[in-house]
This record gives sequence, C-alpha cells and structure tokens, in this order.
Amino acid sequence: MCQRARIVIALPFVVFAVAAVLAQSPHPDNAHATGTNGSQWIHQYREPASRLIGEAMGSTFAWQRLAVLTDTIGNRLSGSPALERAISWAVEEMKRDGLENVRTEHVVVPKWVRGTESAEIVEPVRHPIVMLGLGDSVGTPQEGVQADVLTFHSFEELDSKASLVRGKIVFFNVPFTAYGETVRFRSGGPSRAARYGAVAMLIRSVGPEGLRTPHTGALQYSPDAPKIPAAAITAEDADRIQRMADRGSRVVVRLKMEAHFEADAESANVIGELRGRERSDEIVVVSGHLDSWDVGAGASDDGGGCIVTWEALRIMKKLNLRPRRTVRVVLWTNEENGGRGGLAYRDLHRAELAKHVMMLESDGGVFRPLGFGFTGNETGRQTVKTIASLLSGIAADQINGGGGGADIGPSVTEGRIPAMSLDVDGSKYFLLHHTPADTIDKIDPVEMAKCAAAVAVMAYVVADLPQRLGQ
Ligand SMILES: [Zn+2]
Repeated sequence: MCQRARIVIALPFVVFAVAAVLAQSPHPDNAHATGTNGSQWIHQYREPASRLIGEAMGSTFAWQRLAVLTDTIGNRLSGSPALERAISWAVEEMKRDGLENVRTEHVVVPKWVRGTESAEIVEPVRHPIVMLGLGDSVGTPQEGVQADVLTFHSFEELDSKASLVRGKIVFFNVPFTAYGETVRFRSGGPSRAARYGAVAMLIRSVGPEGLRTPHTGALQYSPDAPKIPAAAITAEDADRIQRMADRGSRVVVRLKMEAHFEADAESANVIGELRGRERSDEIVVVSGHLDSWDVGAGASDDGGGCIVTWEALRIMKKLNLRPRRTVRVVLWTNEENGGRGGLAYRDLHRAELAKHVMMLESDGGVFRPLGFGFTGNETGRQTVKTIASLLSGIAADQINGGGGGADIGPSVTEGRIPAMSLDVDGSKYFLLHHTPADTIDKIDPVEMAKCAAAVAVMAYVVADLPQRLGQ
C-alpha cells in the first residue's frame, strides 16, 4: 500500500490511469462493520482513494483557483464589496463544477472599516512606525492621540504599575511564543490598559520575527472598560521603542486611526453539495472561511482552506465517486471579526444537526499536510486513523487531538458532532497570519494539491462508511 501510494506522488497521471482501469466497482456493498472487526473494511477504499489522490495531484487546479480568487478579488473583510464579489464568484464556480444545491444562506455581519492610520515616534527623535490597527478598534480623534509610552511584558507587570498608566499609551512588548499564548495581549490588552486610564494601546505583533511585518487581528473590548484605540506594531519598531526605554529615554508616540463601525451588512455562507447515493439526509461538512482581514490577499487565511475543502467535492464529482451520504462544502462568512457565519448555520440547520455525521474545517493554512485533528469518541478516532492510513503515501496520515474550528464550533457543540481540522506544517503560517504578506506566492501548488487530496479521501470515506462515524 505504501509503495503504491508513493508512486502516486511520482507519477500521478500514470497511476490515475491504471487505477481507473483497475476500478471494478467503487461501492462494494459487502462492506464489513467499521467497529471492532479489525480494519479489513478499509481495503475497499484503496482504489477510490488512489483515484482521488491521483486526480488532486495530477494538476495545479486548486492553486490556480486560489490565484484567481486572490488576484481578481483580493482580501475580503466582512461588509466589504470584495467579500460579496467572492461569494457570487464561488456560487458561479460551484455551479460550473456541477455541484448540487449550490446556494447562499443569508448572514448579517458587522462592518468594521479601518480607514487611514499611522503611528510615529515623536520623542526622543522622529521615526515612523509600521503598524496595523487591531480589528474592531475604535479610532482616535482626527488629530490623533499623542502620549508617553509605557512598556510592559505581562499583565501582572501592568497591574503592579497601575498608578502610572493614566494618560499614557500602554505598550505590550511580548515576544511571540505560541499563538494561543501571545494572542491574549491583542484581544484583552486594550481593556486591561483602559481600566487604568490608558489613552491607547500598542502591542508587538502576534507573530514570529518577520521583515517589518505588522499583524492585525481582532481585539475584544470588555463591557466594563472604556474603548481605547489599539494597534499592532512590527517587531523591529517594538525593539526600537524597547531600546529607547531601556536607555532611560522618554518615548512619545502619536497614533492616528480612522477606524470605525458602519451599519451591519448583508453577507452569506456559500454552500454546495454532492448528494449522497443512499442516505442523502446524513451530512459530512467540509469547510473554510471566505472572509479575511483587509490586508494581504487572504490566501493562507483562509482562501486556501476554502479551495481545498471545495476541491474534495469537485474531484469526487469529476471522478463520479458519489458516497452513501451527502458531502457539503460550506464557505463561511465573518470568521475573523464576529463568527456570525458559524452561528447562523447552527441556527438555520438546528433541526438537522443530528444528521451531521462529521464537520471539518481547514483554517491553518494549506502547507504540507500532516493529517487531521479529531475530536470525538474512541470508536470514531480508530476509524479515522484507519482511513488516514490511505494517506500514508502523501505523508498525511497522522490523527491528532484537537480537531475543530471557529466556524464549525457552534454546530459541533450543540449537535455533539465529531469535528476535524486539516493539520499542516504550521511553521510558516504565523509569519503570514493577518499580514500584508498573506499572498498566494507563499503557497506551493503541490503541497496545496496534497491538502485537497487528504480532505477528499477523508471526506469521501467518512461519508461512505456503512456505519455512521463513531458508531
Ligand atoms: Zn482563519
């Protein structure tokens, strides 16, 4: 099996042709139970898996489609005309692929507008700062906010010097460790500082050392604190302020931001399906989020996740591989600053959540795939581990814990649905995350094709199993 799958990488066209010739029946009906009877049942899926991998790896279709999205539409913030253009484009393209029940589902989303923004050090000497306002931040007065900067490295340090903060700009200079560790200064920092009377907040960008690249992302104001403007600055500018402060200099910064909210806007989740051949009321969801921040092109976050999950359906359709259950692709709206797409889906589909067999989200980039995260019961875990063995030839056969995603989360929680995420080599992801550098040139077409292959095989087999996943 490994040998054959390795050949798939080297000679996708040849193997695809051979596999197609060898195909007897893609849907043998004498399938064994998937529970405790060993893993003999997987053998019937080797041939369709091989065809799916061959088709995904046999072209750069996924990468080309992402290039069209990111070049002709670009970034796609909630409430922007670009996001609505992307939604219309996706609907037309899904129809062109021959997907079924292609539709949009209405979602009302917040509309945050960045406007013009800038920051500069004005004392001890003038230096421009490369910055990005944090998503959902309020703006400054037109003339800006100018104040002394106080540098902190933890919330505890801020608390211990609370009496010094009134009227100052609080600057959290916390080097990136892991996203989950460092992102709390972005989300919670503004209100922590505002409670002590700060007039603005800056953070060192939440990302590893880059080349003077600022990272935006949403903040979360607490209801009990004044709303102050907040921005991320580059590691280089953070280091400069730190050096000045360490030398005992008084550091004064002027921050100007026009950021504001406008009235909520109409948006939508985009849905396409491949209806199941037997149990079409049972659903496997694969998904990514179509919205992005308003910088870069939203290629890794998360145009790529949209395209590789959508590819699973396109490839099945093209190969005429129709699983027992329905496979549904959902391109979510408003993941970045509201999560309203995921909430709307839960509410609209509440009556059929019990029919959702599994939900998968790809929102960690489409770099070299490693496998999947899985959250569900032990029976389900053993089954997806066995399915993942079909992906050993492209080295995407790991099953780790922690499957899930921000958009599938509301439905998964309410419906107690097994949840998966595509796990990829994440070493480049946080260099690009929420930056002007999130463009398609960072994505390798072959790695992206492997991501599509992995999602296609997993979604196909889960949707086709004789028994529901986890039973
Ligand atoms: Zn994302």
